[in-house]
Amino acid sequence: MTSSLNSLLKKLKLYIPDLWSAHAHSTSFKNTRSGYLRSRITMLSSVWGGLVILWLPFDLLFLDQTYTLPIACARLLLGGLLLSLAWQNHRHTTLQRAQWYMSLMVASINVFYLYTSWVLGFPTVYSGFVYGYTLLPIIHVAILTILPVTLKESLCMLAVTALTQVLVDYLAGRLMSPETIASYWLQNVLALMVIWSQLSKLHMLMRLYRQATLDPLTGIYNRRMLLQLAEKHLVACVQRRQPFSVMLFDIDRFKRINDTWGHGVGDKVLKEFANFMQERIRKNDLFGRFGGEEFILFLPNCTACDAEHIAERMLSRIRALEVATSIDNTAISFTTSIGIANYSGSDSLSSLIERADRALYDCKDAGRDCFRFHPIDDIPNLSERQKAIA
Ligand code: GH3
Ligand code: MG
Ligand code: MG
Repeated sequence: MTSSLNSLLKKLKLYIPDLWSAHAHSTSFKNTRSGYLRSRITMLSSVWGGLVILWLPFDLLFLDQTYTLPIACARLLLGGLLLSLAWQNHRHTTLQRAQWYMSLMVASINVFYLYTSWVLGFPTVYSGFVYGYTLLPIIHVAILTILPVTLKESLCMLAVTALTQVLVDYLAGRLMSPETIASYWLQNVLALMVIWSQLSKLHMLMRLYRQATLDPLTGIYNRRMLLQLAEKHLVACVQRRQPFSVMLFDIDRFKRINDTWGHGVGDKVLKEFANFMQERIRKNDLFGRFGGEEFILFLPNCTACDAEHIAERMLSRIRALEVATSIDNTAISFTTSIGIANYSGSDSLSSLIERADRALYDCKDAGRDCFRFHPIDDIPNLSERQKAIA
């Protein structure tokens, strides 16, 4: 009983930061979620924008003439706002924008509900309403079902909608009526079920995303993800006319570590090296495992001179790094070689990496534990070689 409670608490501790807000998500996951959110916000706000306006003939049919004009104006305003939101939402890509549009969509629907209830004089019974004005809870549940929201986002939306509804019911004097309590009960159960299903979907999405993008041993980006993100960084640097450097790290005589201390220690060295690097890179740098005992660091807006300083510093710090082996409390140290290439003006991502790889070979030839640049003058040779390969 205690052990299962403990494992539940452990799981919650692990998953709650992921599920609570986007803060703990990686930038690439945020980008993916924002794309997902944006397409749904566009779809929802265009459907609702259209439906809100299409309800106009029913207003004319069901409502007293004194209410028709103010409600028609509010409908056109809300419909116009939702349709323009759908249009605007198309043009922006950040998660923050998507969240902002989502809040605007929920807030405008709430304000519309409040306004129409006020215009109608807060009728005391539901049957006095035309169905079009009591859609709020249904709309809310629909929003939660369709949008990939975090726990924080869903609770905020739930709180705003619940407050609006309680306010309207209070002003209508039906807050404590059995119908109201029954409908709250039903809505809350529904909302909780939807939130739960959304969170488990988000959790599954994050798990699959991590499996597809991270290296299972070290937890840093895998090669596929690295190349995908590096391509974007390189294009951005070229557009802004900024320098771009690539560093290819290879742990020296790693096979010997495996052979002497076993693969477990080898794995530990890889993990500690990955942690060490991850903690020291700048926010915009991109680091990941390229394969085996090779790691790659992409440095946007980094000149050859900066790269030289960084490489020098990294080499001496890595030399000082010690990894405990659990065999007689022995700690081992290791060294790395770093091949560096700077963007030349005509490089593609693959030619840059290939140049860094050639520089790495030079390091190995020079005796390891050092860095080498691939000279930019060598590029014509490289492209001839590439042509020959092609
Ligand atoms: P050099 O200084 O020339 O780079 O020599 P090296 O021994 O580091 O290079 P080599 O390519 O000969 O050996 C790399 C070794 O890395 C071989 C492979 O078994 C080991 N390796 C690759 N991936 C892993 C891993 O995930 N865990 C462990 N423990 N070893 C790995
Ligand atoms: Mg190697
Ligand atoms: Mg090696």
